[in-house]
Amino acid sequence: MDYFPIFLKLQSQPCLVVGAGEVGLRKVRMLLAAGASVTVVAPSMCAGLHDLLRQSRLTYLAEPFAVRHLAGMRLVIAATNLPEVNQQVSDSATASNIWVNVVDDPERSGFISPAVVDRSPLVIALSTGGGSPVLARLLRARLESLIPAGWGRVARFAADFRQRVRSRIKDSWARRAFWESVLQGPIAEDLIAGNLQRAVQAMQQRLESDVEPARGAVYLVGAGPGNPDLLTFRAFHLMQQADVVLYDRLVASALLDWVRRDAERIFVGKSSSHHALSQDEINALLVRLAGEGKRVLRLKGGDPFIFGRGGEEIETLSAHGIAFEVVPGVTAASGAAAYAGIPLTHRDYAQSVTFVTGHRKDGSIALDWPLLTHDGQTVVVYMGVGSARALCQAFIAHGRPANCPAAVVEQATTRHQRVVVATLETLAEQMEAQAIMSPALIIVGEVVKLAEKLAWFRPLNDHEPDTIKAADSASRLGRL
Ligand code: SAH
Repeated sequence: MDYFPIFLKLQSQPCLVVGAGEVGLRKVRMLLAAGASVTVVAPSMCAGLHDLLRQSRLTYLAEPFAVRHLAGMRLVIAATNLPEVNQQVSDSATASNIWVNVVDDPERSGFISPAVVDRSPLVIALSTGGGSPVLARLLRARLESLIPAGWGRVARFAADFRQRVRSRIKDSWARRAFWESVLQGPIAEDLIAGNLQRAVQAMQQRLESDVEPARGAVYLVGAGPGNPDLLTFRAFHLMQQADVVLYDRLVASALLDWVRRDAERIFVGKSSSHHALSQDEINALLVRLAGEGKRVLRLKGGDPFIFGRGGEEIETLSAHGIAFEVVPGVTAASGAAAYAGIPLTHRDYAQSVTFVTGHRKDGSIALDWPLLTHDGQTVVVYMGVGSARALCQAFIAHGRPANCPAAVVEQATTRHQRVVVATLETLAEQMEAQAIMSPALIIVGEVVKLAEKLAWFRPLNDHEPDTIKAADSASRLGRL
């Protein structure tokens, strides 16, 4: 984060705007709306400002900026079209430790002003770090259309009832659940529609009736293969609701950023070699947390029902009578296939696809080889990095030709994705040469041939900055 977002309390605070053109006028309006006492300095002013002068909290000084104007100011905005004046304002304000903004000039600004959606007391401020005011405005326009004007009333209503609810419902989990049901139910709908009286009555009734204790639940959610864009809406929604999240090694940190900020996060580890918590311990933890009334998000890589042991977790929940919900996710095979350009089925090359695990429990790979070695069959191997050599040999020993195409996709769908295309004979060697590590999927079958032709995704490598140079991005787009 390059900037620290805060909301300033400016009621009656002296603020200076240098420049009295249209831009300055916009800034003056914003400051006045926030209750500031505004002084404007400029040799001349636009007509709009003239109209505003009737406001008592606005003073206009018809003179050029001078350092003395800064005396006592909390905050300064330079909005002239004269770079040397803006520079002077910036330098002298900075020297006096006064927060300064030069409009459209992040370099000379100590703070930047965000695009604002105002549903006071609900205010959304958004910023692109000064990089693209146009993008900020476009996003603001979207938010404007998403958030009905009535949401301001909802926020005010919540503030008005806050103390009463707090003294009525002592338990903080129960209180949160209460508010969530109020803010997503008919009371909020009435407020948005402007029916304040009915909303107040309904709220009073709810507070007088027995307030239900919070009911815990577990959401078993597939987080997809790593790229946050591949989350489902449902997953995203539940990530915002959860009080506590249990996640394991496969869940990328980029995904955890989407979980509600104040949710408790518990790492439960689990990799094939060392388990931070055993499956039994995880099951017991889920039961305990939900029993305390919490909404528990069990976030799993890919899809929870594909090599995810999701079934075992919900069996325990069901045995304890705990409410649960399962949300599917994009499984690693689908993610890897799409991002590596390897269709898993194809009319010419593969009529079926099988997902298997290459994980060895007792050192042997027990798979249904006659099924897997059929022509026209794609096989996707999960957890197969450690046993890649033995796997490829077994495919050949059971009748697949040594030159059958085979690929490995490491960290599929993420910016670290690597794809190695080879044959059953050469894949293990190439994986070793390129130090391919888990998580990675092996894909075996004729469809792998299409990878070269259909690949469209070229991830950034570690040496590339996130900001793409214009020329580079043009050539990338050319590939699409
Ligand atoms: N439930 C998960 C699979 C868990 S098993 C799913 O549906 O995807 C763990 C294995 O999944 C890893 O060993 C690896 O083979 C595969 N995997 C998970 N994420 C992956 C990714 N981003 N790229 C490649 N393979 C991945």
